Amino acid sequence: MREHLRVLVIDDSLTICRYLERLLTRMGHDVSIASDGTTGMRLHETESFDLILLDLMLPDTDGIALLKEIRSRDQDTCIVMITGHGDIKTAIEAVQQGADGYVEKSQISIGKGLDEFWHIVHRALEFRESQVRRIQLEQEIRQKNRELEATVRELQQARNELQEERNKLREILFSISEIVIAVDQEGRILLMNPQAEKELGISLEEVIGQPISQLPIHKQLLTSLQQALSSKEPVRIEIPNPFTGSNQDGRVFSVTLNPVRLHSDGLPGAIISLHDISQEKELERMKADFYSMITHDLRSPAMAITGFVDLLIQETAGPLNEAQKEMMDIIRRSIRKLLDLINDFLDYSAIDAGFLRLQPAETDVSQVIREAVREIQPLAHQRQHTLEVQVPDEPAIAWVDGERVGQVVTNLLSNAIKYTPQGGRITVRLRTQPDSLVIEVSDNGIGIPAGQIPLLFSKYTRVANEHTRCIQGTGLGLLIVKEIVKAHGGDVEVESEVGRGSTFRVTLPRKQPALAPYQPQEVAIQDVIPAAAPSM
Ligand code: ADP
Repeated sequence: MREHLRVLVIDDSLTICRYLERLLTRMGHDVSIASDGTTGMRLHETESFDLILLDLMLPDTDGIALLKEIRSRDQDTCIVMITGHGDIKTAIEAVQQGADGYVEKSQISIGKGLDEFWHIVHRALEFRESQVRRIQLEQEIRQKNRELEATVRELQQARNELQEERNKLREILFSISEIVIAVDQEGRILLMNPQAEKELGISLEEVIGQPISQLPIHKQLLTSLQQALSSKEPVRIEIPNPFTGSNQDGRVFSVTLNPVRLHSDGLPGAIISLHDISQEKELERMKADFYSMITHDLRSPAMAITGFVDLLIQETAGPLNEAQKEMMDIIRRSIRKLLDLINDFLDYSAIDAGFLRLQPAETDVSQVIREAVREIQPLAHQRQHTLEVQVPDEPAIAWVDGERVGQVVTNLLSNAIKYTPQGGRITVRLRTQPDSLVIEVSDNGIGIPAGQIPLLFSKYTRVANEHTRCIQGTGLGLLIVKEIVKAHGGDVEVESEVGRGSTFRVTLPRKQPALAPYQPQEVAIQDVIPAAAPSM
């Protein structure tokens, strides 16, 4: 028993109260007394006790009712009932209602030995302690149980979600029209969708866990798989007939090999997806044919007209009077404008359709610039511009498509000529750097408002103001310049000030890129700078 107890005695007999108080205080315990239930209850509410000695018969309430009330709020305090002689039935009921023991009043009569009383109290205290421990344990078990149930519920939910995800993935995988095969780090087959099974004529069960190299698959696909697995980077290839077992039916497939983490060990497997692009390829070929036909059919008659008009102007077919000469001149200018439009439009269509294919070679860019200047000189002359060329004497060699770079310079020069009032100064410079060439075309023309500069290289963009209103153009020239420069891996910049002029700066890398060897395209776009002689 603890040495120091806080004890509440509730008994209507003041004699018993005082007796117990004296006795217990002497033993070193703290004792409070109450002679009725209400006082006892109030004391219990305001203080905490280790032991309550509770009389069964109280003036204002009966002891059992008070016991129930205390127990309903407090499971920790030991309660020992004080019963009258022959109250054994009520005492048992009290124990059933939560009392920890009972002692007969006769056992605590003055002058009697208290051994029996102490024995009962001692047992009651032990009993309550064990009850408290049991209740705590029960609470802990209940809490653990609740936690366990929550964990089980969470696990169940996670399992359901996982299953749902799996089903979803399976559905997706099985519904997509692409052929999909998943392999592990060693290239062993983990999964195939029905499309793959159909294409290979094999069921997943037959090949699961086997190396993919055993399937009738193109060697290039296996090499690319190896590359994707070791580099952990996706690889894309286009191959005709990836399945060597199938007929050579002329199909072309776009194959993506995507390294993915399929296991928690961190080793990547790969998802191989094959998409039949035969139709797209066919469409591309048809577009290319159509494009080449239209290029020829639109340009050729216009060129023929230009040639014959030039011959007429040179009076090869007989003398012209002044009025006729003037008319012929108008025809020549109009047809050149028409040709410019056709060229811009066709070039743009080619870029838009993805037909801009470079034919790069070691090229002397100084020479390309001089050539472009020579061709544009008459136009500059007409507008009384001074056209200055600052190009090094020695060759400036770069790995570029000379014809396309010539087109860039011509477009920039033609803009400089157009957007500079008569008698202007236009300069074209070439600076060589170890890894790049810089071509600059400057003018002292009308300039471009700062807000318009970022838009210049977009489709059909023209600066609209009183200076440009009468100047003809399609708004495609700079877009073509940018696309050609971009295709070379270069860059274009613009500096301009309204009323002072503009500088367009093109930077082109000099070296042949290590990757992507040039694949000549079926369609080559011929630019038309009309020749003097007509062709029919
Ligand atoms: P466009 O056929 O209209 O000349 P571009 O794409 O070549 O089409 O040029 C787009 C617009 O950029 C032009 O309409 C013009 O407003 C402006 N621009 C281009 N070059 C110059 C320049 N050197 N000086 C002033 N404005 C220019």
